[in-house]
Amino acid sequence: MGKRYYCDYCDRSFKDDPEARKKHLSSLQHAKNRADHYSFYKEPETILQEEQGKIPCKKYMTTGDCAFGRSCKFSHYAPPFLWELQRMVAAKKMAASHFMPQGGWPNPDDIVKEFFVDITNPETTEEISYPIWDVPLELHNYPNLPSSLWPTTPESITDSNFGQWS
Ligand SMILES: [Zn+2]
Ligand SMILES: [Zn+2]
Repeated sequence: MGKRYYCDYCDRSFKDDPEARKKHLSSLQHAKNRADHYSFYKEPETILQEEQGKIPCKKYMTTGDCAFGRSCKFSHYAPPFLWELQRMVAAKKMAASHFMPQGGWPNPDDIVKEFFVDITNPETTEEISYPIWDVPLELHNYPNLPSSLWPTTPESITDSNFGQWS
């Protein structure tokens, strides 16, 4: 029986040859398992900060092994793993930059309605400082205006389906 290579992160072993190792180490499955493993004691931001500026460790990427271990000055993380981290960090920042109420994300349609209710409130209309989007008079004579030139109304905004934008 030939030598087997055992991957701690994935809890599986396979034939130990450089080709198989390389294939496994660059697989997304492995990157994910490795990420799960490390996320137990490191924030994704920290790992990203530490690894982003590094050049991938050739030895580790080709053989799955490097004598320098965690003190290696090259990165032992495959690019798919770093991409995954970047995605996680971006998602975290997004969540942190919004006030998140108990009920979860606010409905975008409600925000639009609130906004329009605000500016049309009779008590606030005395000082008109908000921009008024209107169609220049001469355009009223054209029967088939492109929708981008239609006057902006609460309906036209809510109809644009913010909820489906990503
Ligand atoms: Zn693995
Ligand atoms: Zn290394």
